[in-house]
Amino acid sequence: MASLPAGPEIERLIQLLSKLPGLGPRSARRAALTLLKKREMLLEPLAAAIRDAAAAIRVCETCGNLDTVSPCSICRDPRRDAHILCVVEDVADLWALERASVFRGRYHVLGGALSALDGITPAKLNVAALINRVGDGVDEVILAMNATVEGQTTAHYLMDMLTASGVKVTRLAHGVPVGGELDYLDEGTLSAAFKARRPL
Ligand SMILES: [Zn+2]
Repeated sequence: MASLPAGPEIERLIQLLSKLPGLGPRSARRAALTLLKKREMLLEPLAAAIRDAAAAIRVCETCGNLDTVSPCSICRDPRRDAHILCVVEDVADLWALERASVFRGRYHVLGGALSALDGITPAKLNVAALINRVGDGVDEVILAMNATVEGQTTAHYLMDMLTASGVKVTRLAHGVPVGGELDYLDEGTLSAAFKARRPL
């Protein structure tokens, strides 16, 4: 590949930006150019923000969330119900649930989902800590895995592990999205919604 008519620092910036989700090489070049043109307004504040975040970020020792303190601000919050745990694959899922403001308990972040193909075994996920937490006064565990093969495999695995402890285990419903039209749904979603129908 021909190199850009720019120095190695700029090439490196583009190369790193292109690793971000949603950015390919072309959008990484455009993002880098915007940063370089807006040196004082964007490039320098962004560099400082990245440096600060890198120095401050902690993985919560209790739940696996990312925060600047450990235990994280959710685990420290006395208003959040410590008897209900919501298990998610990733911090992005925790953020999504927080944006929806539907849950007032605490979380447990697995750090991924089981995948034989990618060599993700239970030992590589934050599972042992979950089992420990459940033995410590938890009444309900909500499995909020993704509706993917890996997510559902993980949910089944955790269900088996947790039933032995006698805790109540629930999972998110699968079905028709809010505002969704049946005609537009894929067969998998429609079939899951049909099977999970409930009396009104
Ligand atoms: Zn935490």
